[in-house]
Amino acid sequence: MNQKLADAIQRDNAAEEAGMHADDRKTCWTHQTWAADCAESPLHTRPSIAHHPRPA
Ligand SMILES: [Zn+2]
Repeated sequence: MNQKLADAIQRDNAAEEAGMHADDRKTCWTHQTWAADCAESPLHTRPSIAHHPRPA
């Protein structure tokens, strides 16, 4: 991991903790890389339901 990426992850972590939506991250916490570099990962192809209420 290069320093620029490490800094960006730190920045995204701080921003997310301050209320930014996870979808607005430029980096991927799961893969510790740029979000654009792992957008095709199976982990990311299904939409996250974490922020939506379950249907009754
Ligand atoms: Zn990822």
